[in-house]
Amino acid sequence: MAELEGLEFGKSDFVLLDEVNMEQFMENLKLRFEKARIYTFIGEVVVSVNPYKQMDIYGKEAIDAYRGRELYENPPHLYAVADAAYKAMKRRAKDTCIVISGESGAGKTEASKYIMQYIAAITNPSQRAEVESVKNVLLKSNCVLEAFGNAKTNRNDNSSRFGKYMDINFNFNGDPTGGHINNYLLEKVRIKFNPVIYDLHQIQFYNTRIMNCVSATPQGNLQFETDSESVQVVGSEAVSDIAGLTTTEPDNVTKSLLYRTVATGGGEVIEKGHTEKEACFGRDAFAKALYERLFCWIVARINAVIEVKDYNPVLHGKNTVIGVLDIYGFEIFDNNSFEQFCINYCNEKLQQLFIELILRQEQDEYQREGITWQHIDYFNNQIIVDLVEQPHKGIISVLDEACLTVGKVTDTICLESMDAKLGQHPHYTSRKLTPSDKTMEFHRDFRIRHYAGDVTYSVEGFLDKNKDPLFQDFKRLMYNSSNPVLKEMWPDGQLSITEVTKRPLTAATLFKNSIVALVDKLGCKEPYYVRCIKPNEMKSPVLFDDARCQHQVAYLGLLENVRVRRAGFAYRQPYARFLQRYKMTCEYTWPNHLMETDREAVEAIVTQHGFQDDVAYGHTKLFVRTPRSLFTLEQERAALI
Ligand code: ADP
Ligand code: MG
Repeated sequence: MAELEGLEFGKSDFVLLDEVNMEQFMENLKLRFEKARIYTFIGEVVVSVNPYKQMDIYGKEAIDAYRGRELYENPPHLYAVADAAYKAMKRRAKDTCIVISGESGAGKTEASKYIMQYIAAITNPSQRAEVESVKNVLLKSNCVLEAFGNAKTNRNDNSSRFGKYMDINFNFNGDPTGGHINNYLLEKVRIKFNPVIYDLHQIQFYNTRIMNCVSATPQGNLQFETDSESVQVVGSEAVSDIAGLTTTEPDNVTKSLLYRTVATGGGEVIEKGHTEKEACFGRDAFAKALYERLFCWIVARINAVIEVKDYNPVLHGKNTVIGVLDIYGFEIFDNNSFEQFCINYCNEKLQQLFIELILRQEQDEYQREGITWQHIDYFNNQIIVDLVEQPHKGIISVLDEACLTVGKVTDTICLESMDAKLGQHPHYTSRKLTPSDKTMEFHRDFRIRHYAGDVTYSVEGFLDKNKDPLFQDFKRLMYNSSNPVLKEMWPDGQLSITEVTKRPLTAATLFKNSIVALVDKLGCKEPYYVRCIKPNEMKSPVLFDDARCQHQVAYLGLLENVRVRRAGFAYRQPYARFLQRYKMTCEYTWPNHLMETDREAVEAIVTQHGFQDDVAYGHTKLFVRTPRSLFTLEQERAALI
C-alpha cells in the first residue's frame, strides 16, 4: 500500500492533492520521481515518468502482488492498470483497451511491453502448450516490428516511428487465443533523410527476400547529373545494385528513374524525361514507398501468424479483447510540419474519446446505481476536431482540394484558401512572416489552438506530403519483379497509365480514415489509460526538468483529468466485497454483522470512520469520492492483520 510508505514519497494519487493546480501537481510529480516512485494514479489512470534506469519492480513477486487486486490495494503501477483491464474483460466479459500516450522517449513502448508481459504471466495457469505458443508469438511479434519500424533518434535511442494498436483475443477462460496489429502513420520520411540506415553492400549477403528489399531502400548513394540537357544517373553501380536486389532489369530501373509515362489529353501515351529535380523527387518517393510497403507487408505476415484460428463461438464462448494502443502524444517542436499536424489531430480525437468515454461511463453507472448525476464542467474539443476533419470546410478538405486542383497550386496558395474558409474560426489563425532575407520566398504558417496548447505549423511541404505521389513507372517496375514477394506488395503496378485513378486518396485523408476507424474500435471498449512523461532530454535518471515536464503535464491534459476525477466518485465497490475487506475495522461488523443487509453493515463501517460525507450509497455499490477514505481503511486494516 503506497500510502503506508508515508508522505515523504509524495501522494500516490493526484486526486489527493490539497488543491488542484499546476504547482502542487508538479511538486508531487517531482518528489515521487526523486524517490524512485515512477508511477502515480489519477484515479484509474497511471501517470508514469521514465526512470531511465532499470527498476526492480517488474519481477514475479510484483506480478503476484497485483494479480486480482483492486487498484488502491497496491502502490500505483502499470500492473494495476493491466490487471484492472484484464479483470473487467474476464469477470464482466467486457472488451477493454489500454491507451498509452506520451511524447517520444517517454516510455510508451516499454510500458506496452510490461503490460503484455504481465498479461502473459497471469494467464494460462495450467500451462497449456497451445496457449503458451500463442503468448510467445504475441510477445515476439514486437521484436520483428521494432527491427523494421524503429530508429535511433536524438530523442530516443530506440524510437518507434509508427503508432501501433494491438488487439489480444481471449477465450472464455481468459487465456489468449491470438491477436491483430494495426500500424499508423509510419514515419517513412526518415528514409529520405537518413540514407545510411542499412549499408547496401554489407547487407547483401543476407540473401533472403526481405532483406533484399530493405537494402534496396536507402538510395542516398544514387545521384543524378545533367549533361547537355538530359539527366543521367551518376555511375552504374547503384542501378545494378537496385536491379539485383529487387530482381529487375537494370535498364528498366534506369528508365523508371529518368522517365515517366504520361497520358496526353488525346489519349496518347508518351514518355517524358525528368528534370534532375523530378528525378530526385521520384527516387526519394520510391525509397519511401518501398519501405512503407515492406513494413505493411511484414505487419500483414505477423497478423496471418497471430490471428485467432479455429475459433468456434458456440464451443468456446464469447471472444473478448484487450487492445493496447502505443501512440505518440502531442508533438510541439520549433518547426512543426505535416507529420505533427496528423499526430496532433490524432491526439485531439483520442482526447475527445477519453472525455466522452469517461463521462458516459460515469453517467451510465450513476444512473444504474440510482445516484444523482452531477454536471462536470469540461472543455469539449469537438470544435477543434471539426476544424481539422469537417467535410468541405475542414483543413484536410481544403488541403485535398488544393492537391486535386490541376495547375500550379503552391503551399502558400493553399494557405490562402484555408484562411478564406477558416479565418473566422476561433481555434485557427495564420500570419505572414516578414522574410528576413528579401530573396526568400514568402514563408507563412498557420496556428491551431489545440486543447493542449497552441501549435504553429509551417505550411511548407504540406501539399507534397499530402499528395505523396509515386510515379506509376516505379509501381510497374516492382510489379514486374521476378521476386514474387515484391510483386505481391505492388498489385497496383499492373495498371497501365490510362487505368490509373486520377484521384487517389491523399495521405491526410488516409490517415483520417484510419484514425476514425481506430476511434470506433476503441469507442466500444472500456478504456484504461497510461500517461507517460519524459523527465529530461539527456536520458538521465536523476534530472527532472521542471519546464519540460510541466509542458507534458499540460499537453496530456492531466490537471483536467484530476478535476474530472474529483468532481465525481473516484472509487466504487460492491457492498459484499467492501465488507469482506474492511469488516475487521469495525466492532459492529466483526466477525459477522447482524444487520439486515450488507449495505447497512457498510454504512456502519463508513460512519464509524467518519467519512459519511465522502460517499454515496448505490443500489449495489458503495461510491467513494476520494481515495483518502479508502487509504485510511487500508491503513487500519494493515495494522490489524
Ligand atoms: P517511447 O516509446 O515513448 O518513445 P520508449 O518506451 O522506447 O519510449 O522508452 C525510451 C527509453 O527509455 C527506453 O529505451 C529505455 O531505455 C527507457 N525506459 C523507458 N521506460 C522505462 C522503464 N520503465 N524502466 C527503465 N527504462 C525505461
Ligand atoms: Mg515507442
